[in-house]
Amino acid sequence: MSQHIDEAIQKHEALVLRRQRGIPNNRRLFVLACMDERLDVEEMLGLQPGDAHIFRNAGGLVTDDVIRSAVLSVNFFGTKEIIVINHTECGMMTAQGREIVEALRAKFNIDVERVQLDPSLPERVLTDPDAFERWFRTFESVDDVTVAQVEYLRNHPLIPKDTVINGYVYEVESHRLR
Ligand SMILES: [Zn+2]
Repeated sequence: MSQHIDEAIQKHEALVLRRQRGIPNNRRLFVLACMDERLDVEEMLGLQPGDAHIFRNAGGLVTDDVIRSAVLSVNFFGTKEIIVINHTECGMMTAQGREIVEALRAKFNIDVERVQLDPSLPERVLTDPDAFERWFRTFESVDDVTVAQVEYLRNHPLIPKDTVINGYVYEVESHRLR
């Protein structure tokens, strides 16, 4: 019995010290997916705790913080594969950037283009109205957007060329990945 407990403690310690010891996640996998509550990313990929780095944002889109996180994951944390998951009926297809900007301007009554995008990096602002609209990253075709996200990652100079990168569309209607 005590041997069983010792093993459990050692296993837990190995999990705790993973980053210190340079141990990758179990599947050497980084997943980018939409934050949408209808996507059970772990379930659809058969992931258990410890298996993958999972980054979720509005749309499952390659933003600067996705690049930051993926660059760290593949270059320093042992990750070899990236999976992108976008989905049908995504909220990012229901409005255009311009409409979102106008709605925020009306709601807060401020010069929204001057808002800090990252409070920890005050120099990061997009004062060009067109760029600020595009920052919201709305899209029209989920298939096209998936292809584009995979291309962004495959072509990024800080992501090694031997990283396996694929994209999938999750169909909310059928609960299937394609
Ligand atoms: Zn979505």
